[in-house]
Amino acid sequence: MRHHKIVVALGGNALEENGEKPTAENQWKTIRKAADHLAEISAAGHEIAIVHGNGPQIGRIALASEAAADQVPVMPFDVCGAMSQGYIGYHIQQAMKEALAEKKLERIPVVSLITQVVVDKTDPAFQNPVKPIGSFCSREEAERLEQERGYIMKEDAGRGYRRVVPSPRPREIVEFETLRRLWDSTIVILCGGGGIPVVREKEGSFRGIAAVIDKDLAASLTARSIGADMLMILTQVDYAAIRFGTPDQEDLHHITCEQAKKYKEEGHFAAGSMEPKIQAAIEFAESAPGRRAVITSLEKAGQALDGEIGTWIEG
Ligand code: ADP
Ligand code: MG
Repeated sequence: MRHHKIVVALGGNALEENGEKPTAENQWKTIRKAADHLAEISAAGHEIAIVHGNGPQIGRIALASEAAADQVPVMPFDVCGAMSQGYIGYHIQQAMKEALAEKKLERIPVVSLITQVVVDKTDPAFQNPVKPIGSFCSREEAERLEQERGYIMKEDAGRGYRRVVPSPRPREIVEFETLRRLWDSTIVILCGGGGIPVVREKEGSFRGIAAVIDKDLAASLTARSIGADMLMILTQVDYAAIRFGTPDQEDLHHITCEQAKKYKEEGHFAAGSMEPKIQAAIEFAESAPGRRAVITSLEKAGQALDGEIGTWIEG
């Protein structure tokens, strides 16, 4: 089998298990299991970089900081993002080294990059923040937070008020040159949680902003920038499906970008979950000939490599 240059996007299920307490110890255990699947890809001779989510983690870090506001200054959201990349990356580094060592691959270095991703100040997402973060609060509390901290608070489906931030498109990876230099020797973990969103002030000067970048779109940007030939999006389901969750559900095996776009327009993929994965896959597969994207489950990652399992999007 030809060796591939693969960017892997890890979903929430690779970092924490449903229904388990989100302790650091449980996160490590879950990531350790995920690492076995990723090490399988390395053991097959492929080069990988790893992008991961951070939704629940960054939410908890922000919540902890706010809860301690009377004792320590509240951390801004971009800093919470950096903290989440740090502790998730730390666990992935430790788990990957152990999983690789079991396959006699302990010499492969693994490192995580605190990654900034440039977004466009004029991105229309800034006009309409939609991504809820943190905890619920009352109307009075929401008004206070809007005044004191400049947050944008929205009522969330009758459950109370919640802070919302925009979800702009990723444009450029600030640490890309570092990834490029490390690629041949090292498994690089980057763009955690989609990356820390920053805006360019002037050449060489960036400022973090309160926003959330979709991690699948960031993984697609990473794969395009580095010239990977495969984007692997690992999540909870073996396949993306049309008529998902109905008795007529049909799993998709091999589809073209045109078919994927058509199904997307017909609304087969839920916004915020499967839709960004399909979008990320299309953007990658369309960017150059020979580039393929696959959406499948973490557990099937190794098997998917031969093309038999997973939703493959190409051409
Ligand atoms: P991740 O943390 O991996 O990004 P998400 O929950 O954001 O996971 O997205 C994956 C989920 O999307 C699946 O577990 C599934 O429940 C849901 N989903 C929505 N629409 C579809 C679809 N058309 N086909 C398959 N899964 C879908
Ligand atoms: Mg997701």
